[in-house]
Amino acid sequence: GVAIHLENCGKTFANGARALEPTTLHIERGETVVFLGPSGCGKTTMLRIIAGLETPDAGGRVRFGDEDVTDTPIERRNVGMVFQSYALFPNMNVAENIGYGLKIRGVGAVERAKRVAELVKLTHIEGLEGRSIDQLSGGQRQRVALARAVAARPRVLLLDEPLTALDALLRERLRGELNSLLRELGITSVYVTHDQAEAMTLGDRIVVMSKGAIAQIGTPRDIYLTPANRYVAEFVGAANVVEAACRDGGLILPGGILPIAGATPGPAIAMIRPESWSIVPADAATLTGRVETVIFVGDRQRVSIAGAAAKPILVDAPNGLIIAPGDVVGLTAPPDAIRILPG
Ligand code: ADP
Ligand code: MG
Repeated sequence: GVAIHLENCGKTFANGARALEPTTLHIERGETVVFLGPSGCGKTTMLRIIAGLETPDAGGRVRFGDEDVTDTPIERRNVGMVFQSYALFPNMNVAENIGYGLKIRGVGAVERAKRVAELVKLTHIEGLEGRSIDQLSGGQRQRVALARAVAARPRVLLLDEPLTALDALLRERLRGELNSLLRELGITSVYVTHDQAEAMTLGDRIVVMSKGAIAQIGTPRDIYLTPANRYVAEFVGAANVVEAACRDGGLILPGGILPIAGATPGPAIAMIRPESWSIVPADAATLTGRVETVIFVGDRQRVSIAGAAAKPILVDAPNGLIIAPGDVVGLTAPPDAIRILPG
């Protein structure tokens, strides 16, 4: 793998659509970076600029390591690609699909068979080598597509929503498999998704995008624990975003006062994740509210509490907590779990 450098890469299409603001981004060698954001925010455009399927607007440069590839066509960039639609060759069987890139590079039959066998094992499709593509399930097709993409040891692996077309259970399993596979391969990879759970699982770093621009770059931990702004906080994970006045070391809320550390007096936007709250007896807290709903989600209960803030607050409570709609309860959160966001 090689490092990928985008310098000032923007994209305005011929019809005037501004898909990507001029963007600078550095991806390290061997790293997996996820582009995360809602549909239409420019993820695919940025990926296609890396691939060479799209030219950046004037002034934009793309480098692979020290090599400027801005004017290098896709077939000479040595990138592997996997898309949402499998794009496999229907007239070839599984082994032929995987070996295709090696064949056109002149790799001999013996060497090719050896490499295909390795890839079949790596992607867990043993026994399917002779099958035709229409005899495969969606998950199997995506494994073949992945094996084919990495067969010729590309410098960069680019994946655009490869799991989106699969059902939820399979998606979750393949997500875990892909994580180990990408680590095993050690290829510099860029993975595009609108699914935050996928981004968290797969990314060494996540690039959160909004309207053609980068909203934040960071490790999954950074993005989740210290979102740069309200957009990131609400897009990644469940967030309680609370608007309040800050006075005397606390946020003044409809249901009382929530103590915070190092508070600057004035209007504030605070974010507290559901797992950071504790539900305590009403007389043991300076902030109270009334339980609205209690939903059992398996490993915990998701409780909605009204009246504490302007909007209901979501709290993750342990299953052992006995609680019912109508109960008046106290809410506490450790001051270091309360993140003040820029307005
Ligand atoms: P994402 O992958 O995040 O869903 P895209 O990069 O595909 O977003 O698209 C970003 C924006 O650019 C969208 O508004 C889309 O409609 C527009 N767009 C993408 N490709 C083209 C194109 N070839 N011509 C015109 N507009 C395009
Ligand atoms: Mg896309």
